[in-house]
Amino acid sequence: DSTTAAGWRFDNSYARLPAFFYSKIPFNPVGAPKLAVLNVRLAESLGLSEEALRSEAGLAVLAGNAAPEGAEPLAQAYAGHQFGHLTMLGDGRALLLGEHLSPDGRRRDIQLKGSGRTPYSRGGDGRAALGPMLREYAISEAMHGLGIPTTRSLAVVATGEPVFREDELPGAILTRVAASHIRVGTFQYAAGAGGADQVRVLADYTMQRHDPEIEHGDYLSFLKAVVGRQAALIAKWQLVGFVHGVMNTDNMAIGGETIDYGPCAFLDAYDPSTVFSSIDANGRYAYNQQPRIAAWNLARFAETLLPLLHKDEERAVALAEREISAFPQLFEAEWLAGMRAKLGLPGEASEDEALAQDLLELMETHRADYTNTFASLAVGATEQGALFESDAFASWHGRWRARIGDTDDAAAEAQRLMTRSNPAAIARNHRVEEALEAAVERGDYGVLNRLVEALRDPFAYAPAQAEFAEPPHPSCGRYRTFC
Ligand code: AMP
Ligand code: MG
Ligand code: MG
Repeated sequence: DSTTAAGWRFDNSYARLPAFFYSKIPFNPVGAPKLAVLNVRLAESLGLSEEALRSEAGLAVLAGNAAPEGAEPLAQAYAGHQFGHLTMLGDGRALLLGEHLSPDGRRRDIQLKGSGRTPYSRGGDGRAALGPMLREYAISEAMHGLGIPTTRSLAVVATGEPVFREDELPGAILTRVAASHIRVGTFQYAAGAGGADQVRVLADYTMQRHDPEIEHGDYLSFLKAVVGRQAALIAKWQLVGFVHGVMNTDNMAIGGETIDYGPCAFLDAYDPSTVFSSIDANGRYAYNQQPRIAAWNLARFAETLLPLLHKDEERAVALAEREISAFPQLFEAEWLAGMRAKLGLPGEASEDEALAQDLLELMETHRADYTNTFASLAVGATEQGALFESDAFASWHGRWRARIGDTDDAAAEAQRLMTRSNPAAIARNHRVEEALEAAVERGDYGVLNRLVEALRDPFAYAPAQAEFAEPPHPSCGRYRTFC
């Protein structure tokens, strides 16, 4: 590998896989690219030069107009269960430039999203609109700030060309940075369009990349590791009130990062049946369905591995089922540990789960704001509002105080734990919308930059976060996302 002026250092292991796994394709240049946002902190951590990225040559790379030295652009093939139906997919509007080796020794996929048509585009135009790409940038940064594994966004470039959806919209390309883009759907493609040999090639490759400590050929441990990562990830989503919105198997990354920010959104008022996505008519991907759906997706993943798990199919199925059936307990354990931290509970007591569930039930009854209820408990604020004024809450509060312990030391320790575990600010839908509108309609990026800056440090209980803490006015009605 060699290092370019911007600091790109590519080593493209995926491009060395059999051609079955991708299509190498040329760029689809855009006319008048302009940098909309550059994630300077991420650039720094990747060992990239801000100045060089901002230069004409740097911008040409982020716009998909020129390949940096060492890049080998390709579109990845994959399949996926979309709302339960298996479909052949692939990068229909994205190009993997290659894998950048950053100074910390980590290997990161650098992918351009919105870069034009590919052999997998089906009826699509291969392009993306500026608003949704800025939204992915803001929400993925917020997730990272919350300490949740996620793909990142290095830059958004406005292409200067329109895209046609219901309206004509300004086009954009997002540079996505990921541990990898290998999905459950990549394995489904290997199994469906290839067979056991292709699954083995992909599994060996993926294990080297994400689970190098697992012994070569130990596919059962690989399955266990993937299940464990998803259990931990989905627990983190539930704990912050994140609704992904489109948990198709092609949107579940084997490396355990949150991927594909489309119709996702955060809860305001606590309602476990919340669905934001306009296309999810049946609530398949509702907030409270996410753990169940993750296990379902993992079962689809396990199916692709069956021929690798044991020569005897029945034996293979039994082994896979054991790993998949462990998901609920793994998830519950992660979730309960997270809830103990959110409630500032020291150690473990048998009453903890009921304590958490009873609070959630009260929050649901009173339509209390999810984030702010925990934030108020964390800082010891007495909030106005139906929940905090109810007798049932007073009684819950007494149980909670007793569980923490009534010494000053215990209270101080609980508060420390809670402010570390409960964000003061999340990417609230109405504030994200406001920031996108300013950027897209008026070219004013100040609002978006201030929002992203506050969300990078969501556990700081400071004025910058307080500015974005207010829930939407009830008159806003139910928020809907479109993708
Ligand atoms: P998603 O719903 O974002 O997970 O995308 C599902 C599939 O549709 C993937 O194969 C995408 O690459 C493809 N896709 C989404 N938008 C477009 C588009 N504008 N043009 C071509 N393909 C697209
Ligand atoms: Mg997707
Ligand atoms: Mg998408």
